[in-house]
This record gives sequence, structure tokens and C-alpha cells, in this order.
Amino acid sequence: MLDADFFRRWMTAAAASVDREADRLTALDSPIGDADHGSNLQRGFRAVRDALDKEPPATPGAVLTQAGRLLISTVGGASGPLYGTLLRRAGKSLGDAAEVDERQLAEALRAGTDAVMQLGGAAPGDKTMIDALVPAVDALGDSFAAARDAAERGAVATTPLQARKGRASYLGERSIGHQDPGATSSALLIAALLDASGP
Ligand code: ADP
Ligand code: MG
Ligand code: MG
Repeated sequence: MLDADFFRRWMTAAAASVDREADRLTALDSPIGDADHGSNLQRGFRAVRDALDKEPPATPGAVLTQAGRLLISTVGGASGPLYGTLLRRAGKSLGDAAEVDERQLAEALRAGTDAVMQLGGAAPGDKTMIDALVPAVDALGDSFAAARDAAERGAVATTPLQARKGRASYLGERSIGHQDPGATSSALLIAALLDASGP
């Protein structure tokens, strides 16, 4: 079973991973965006980590809801409301249970991903974070490692796509040949689940 501390460790691991990879995320956002994805997420996840450290919420749902709220208020840029919606919707789906199992986590992230698609209007294949999140959620029923691998493959598979949503879509065909920064950060977020599960 996964308790509130597991979810806090997940968000802390995501913050550490975003810190490590911030320059790469910003570099990916340079040819097909405005070169701020790494710094946007770094600001957001640092705020999340600090808030969860200071006053750890009591339930898994409350951890994700608070993290989502903080991402919306601190990230600036398209990815803030989208990641915020992912986590807030997932948190809502977990309700106020003190512990949840892997299946409930998978269902919650499915609901969160659906909410992101509704908010941003992106479908799989549009070269966005959805291209990593959907395969990850599909694989989450198997294992965290399977979800991480699926998200990573999904992020890499955005390279030959033409962007149909977000800033990169303004480039039309010139968006082809670059990996999507948001799909890349989504793969980091999913990979952080393994860090939270311990050694
Ligand atoms: P901005 O484009 O406002 O500078 P970021 O650079 O932080 O915001 O985030 C860009 C990422 O957000 C993209 O790489 C893409 O994955 C994701 N994104 C943008 N628009 C959408 C959308 N409508 N639906 C899903 N994801 C999106
Ligand atoms: Mg950007
Ligand atoms: Mg921006």
C-alpha cells in the first residue's frame, strides 16, 4: 500500500529529477519553444517540495491536490495549469483514503491525464506531454518500471511528430525532428515513482 509519505517522496524525487535535468528540458524547449520549460518546472517543483516538507499533508490525495495547486500558482507557462490539473484531478480521485494501492494510483493518473486532454485539447500524437502520459498510464497496471519505460519511449517517439498543440505548433512542419520538452518532463515525473518506492 502507498501512504502519504510515499506520495511526498514521489514529489520530492520529481523535484530532484527536474533540478538535475532542468538545463536539458530548457534546451529541448529552445528549438520548438521559448526555452523556459526547465526553469518553469524547477520553480514549480521546488515550491512543491518545500511546502510538502514544511507541512506534510495527511493523505495521498491531499499531497497530490496541494502539489497541483502549487504548480498552477508558481509555474507560469502552459505546463503549469496542465501539470497542476493532472495532479489535482489525480488527488481528487484518491479521495481521503490514508493508503491506496497501485491500481488506485493508476486509475487516478488516468483521470488526471483525461483532465489534461480535456483542458488542453491535445490527443495522443499531437507532440505533447500526453504522448508520454497515456502510454505510462496504460503500463502502470504492470509495474512502475513498465510505466517508466513506456513514458520514456513515448517521449522519444515525439521526435518525428509535427506539433499540433502548444507553442511548438506555431512552427508547423519545422517542429518535426525535435523531442517534445513536456513529454520529456512527464517521463521524469513517472520515473520518479521508482525513486519513491525505495532502493
Ligand atoms: P510554454 O509553452 O508556455 O512556455 P512550457 O515550456 O513550460 O510552457 O511547456 C511546454 C510543454 O507543454 C510542451 O512541450 C507540451 O508538452 C506541453 N503542452 C503545451 N500545450 C499543451 C496542450 N494544449 N496539451 C498538452 N500539453 C501541452
Ligand atoms: Mg516554454
Ligand atoms: Mg513560456
